[in-house]
Amino acid sequence: MSNSDCIFCSIATGKIPCIRIWQDDLVLAFLDIGPVSDGHTLVIPKAHFGRLHECSPDVLVGISNCIGKICQAVVSAVGAEAYNVLCNNGIAAGQLVEHVHFHIIPRNSGDGVFGRWPAYKYQQGRAEEIAARIREKI
Ligand code: 5GP
Ligand code: ZN
Repeated sequence: MSNSDCIFCSIATGKIPCIRIWQDDLVLAFLDIGPVSDGHTLVIPKAHFGRLHECSPDVLVGISNCIGKICQAVVSAVGAEAYNVLCNNGIAAGQLVEHVHFHIIPRNSGDGVFGRWPAYKYQQGRAEEIAARIREKI
């Protein structure tokens, strides 16, 4: 399943080149063309799925099977202290390429790549109410 308008489908099928890190039947990992740190890697399913919740179970298992070892290799290769794994889903969440992908971003203390997010506290009863609504949807 491939989408002719999708840049990551074109990379997965080899129509557009990439600097490949790893691949198997289901998954491809390659360097991000616009890194925020050296070694910034993208892990994608070879088939087209827009967002994480749309992926088939075999693709989720395939990603789960390889992403840990790719993180370990990336971080060790660039000598980073730490890493983020990010998966933006939807434009409002910062997803520019609508083919699901995981960013592996090597991090070092004080690198300034991300700041803390604006955490706040729930008002009394609000967390329980939201949790109940979520449970109903699962
Ligand atoms: P998003 O904002 O959708 O989570 O991230 C998309 C990522 O894809 C960006 O970090 C961007 O640099 C990367 N990207 C976009 N086009 C290409 C491309 O043609 N080749 C590679 N290697 N990365 C790309
Ligand atoms: Zn695609």
